[in-house]
Amino acid sequence: MSSHDAQPAVTVLGLGPMGRSLAAAFLAGGVRTTVWNRTPGRDREPVALGAVGAATAEDAVAASDLVVVCVVNYDASDAILRRDAVTAALKGRTVVNLSADTPGRARDTAAWADRHGIAYLDGAIMTPTPTIGTPDAVFLTSGPADLHRRHAPVLATLGGTHTHLGDDIGRAAAYDVALLDIFWTAMAGYAHALAVARAEGVTARELAPFAGGIGAILPPIFAATAASVDAATFDGEDNPLTSAASSIAHIIATAEAHGIDTAVIRAAEGQVRRAIGLGHGTDGFTRISALLTPH
Ligand code: NDP
Repeated sequence: MSSHDAQPAVTVLGLGPMGRSLAAAFLAGGVRTTVWNRTPGRDREPVALGAVGAATAEDAVAASDLVVVCVVNYDASDAILRRDAVTAALKGRTVVNLSADTPGRARDTAAWADRHGIAYLDGAIMTPTPTIGTPDAVFLTSGPADLHRRHAPVLATLGGTHTHLGDDIGRAAAYDVALLDIFWTAMAGYAHALAVARAEGVTARELAPFAGGIGAILPPIFAATAASVDAATFDGEDNPLTSAASSIAHIIATAEAHGIDTAVIRAAEGQVRRAIGLGHGTDGFTRISALLTPH
């Protein structure tokens, strides 16, 4: 084997902000990197860093045994991977799809990959682009454990932690949607809080240090309640649902006094009131998770 062949190689399909960050980290880690993007010209930055810019997706795929896909979603990755020429070029290679989507799409892709002799790992990136290549990056993967082990050294050049969540290919996406559920509902609450604060003459800058304090309350709650959620006891401890209902009522009253839409907080209030009505008033907020699941 020549020294050129011994150098690890990867192909990156998709050169949005995240795909470009991945390519840059691979290059910095000494991995021979071939790149391709649907819209031409987006490979300028990785090529300047030493990547090979392929003319077509099939050429890009043919350059490496490991193909990392990072596009907006699985409709986009399907549009690339499921073209006959690309599917044929992928035979015998490994696809690691770091595009975000649902567990169902990952399982559907696993069945497609299996039919075409393509090895497949699904992955999710849980941190923003500046973390890539640093210890702060967080990657989740799922799919065959031996495949994860085989490609771990090359993927490790992306920095951070790489957690393999198990053989169920849908698991990385399951974590991804659950974690982004926290993020987007929290952002919806933050947007509403900003509107309420502004109506009361409080600027975002004035609120920010205290908003940070509220945010910091959450991680210990996640850790402290996990066991009682899994045991389905939903112990209220110092914060029963009756207390939450009272607190939420103040938010709604203030928002309505300023004519601010209350749909998001009213949804939370409705869940709390339903739980109390069912006799769970002394339980903690996590009791609502049990009531959301249809029986
Ligand atoms: P986008 O989510 O905006 O994705 C842009 C990429 O998708 C471009 O390469 C674009 O190609 C491609 N694309 C979109 N539609 C198609 C299509 N129909 N066919 C082929 N390619 C298509 O940008 P990011 O790079 O930021 O994100 C990529 C993935 O990484 C997403 O799933 C995102 O959720 C995930 N992610 C991103 C983070 C971030 O901080 N940016 C953080 C964590 C995860 P073109 O240039 O031709 O339009």
